[in-house]
Amino acid sequence: MKNKVLLIYTGGTIGMVQDESGVLHPFALDRIYDAVPQLKNCAYGIDSCQLENIIDSSNMTPAFWRDIANIIAREYDRYDGFVVLHGTDTMAYTASALSFVFKNLAKPIVLTGSQLPLGMLRSDGRENIICALEIASARQLNIPEVCIFFEDHLYRGNRSTKVSAENFDAFNSYNYPSLATAGINISFKEHLILPVPEGALTIRTEFDNRVAVLKLFPGITREVVHAVLSTSDLQGLVIETYGSGNAPTEKWFIDELEAAAKRGIILMNVTQCKAGAVKMRQYAASCDMDRIGVVGAKDITIEAAVTKLMYLLGCYPNDKQHVKERLSVSLRGELTD
Ligand code: ASP
Repeated sequence: MKNKVLLIYTGGTIGMVQDESGVLHPFALDRIYDAVPQLKNCAYGIDSCQLENIIDSSNMTPAFWRDIANIIAREYDRYDGFVVLHGTDTMAYTASALSFVFKNLAKPIVLTGSQLPLGMLRSDGRENIICALEIASARQLNIPEVCIFFEDHLYRGNRSTKVSAENFDAFNSYNYPSLATAGINISFKEHLILPVPEGALTIRTEFDNRVAVLKLFPGITREVVHAVLSTSDLQGLVIETYGSGNAPTEKWFIDELEAAAKRGIILMNVTQCKAGAVKMRQYAASCDMDRIGVVGAKDITIEAAVTKLMYLLGCYPNDKQHVKERLSVSLRGELTD
């Protein structure tokens, strides 16, 4: 029997067409089969479906994550793997969010897209789709992870970041090596791939988006920090700090954070650096944050940090202490413990 993959189309450049003025808009799934006719007769079976609303991924929201997750959960037993066609702009957020949604995932979910629409001669989409499908249907190795395949590399989804609005090589994973590379053969690095879990699959899709991100910069004012922290009903804040998790030591800054922590807002320390980790108390410039209970989130990406915070707040709305404890440990390989 052939392995079977479900191809889920959500939108993005890969399926877009240009209108008369040159602007790109998402289009329907059948265009993809016109552009890659090879998909109609490959060694594995492909079924496909699309979201009700096909979007540019800049319109991505937790409601779409729920829709994608529900499709996969509903069809989980019928397929050997899943490929999600997605815009590149927020692909790393969706991959991170889906990684948290599925606990005990035992099958591959591979997200891919392209920098040029499939209909264009030089499109990178054909290669990306075909490799993503091969990986999701691979008999020789089951990858029980949510991944991103892009331009020769398979990355762990919750370690990935979009790094280029120009190059075909649009993603990178600075704090974790790629899980596979595609050349003449697709070579998997088995020792880097998560083990197949023993428990049954569970799915939780209650994201709480009452969160914010505050990126520090030299000269940031108290008004800005105060305004963000005063957002009504704010439950959690990701602070994008400098280097290994450093921030101003000025009294007004620490006072603002401390007051927010006392109001029950969870504060998460994530570095602005692309590579490396937050190490609380390495410098005096993070000691006060540590004292007031800011959580150091180690080497997590900003995409994984935001989605993990939303996910944990959604799962444990009445247990902030538990949320804080989980933020600094690895749930799905998103950080180095
Ligand atoms: N704006 C597009 C999107 O994210 C970009 C892309 O697909 O590459 O949907």
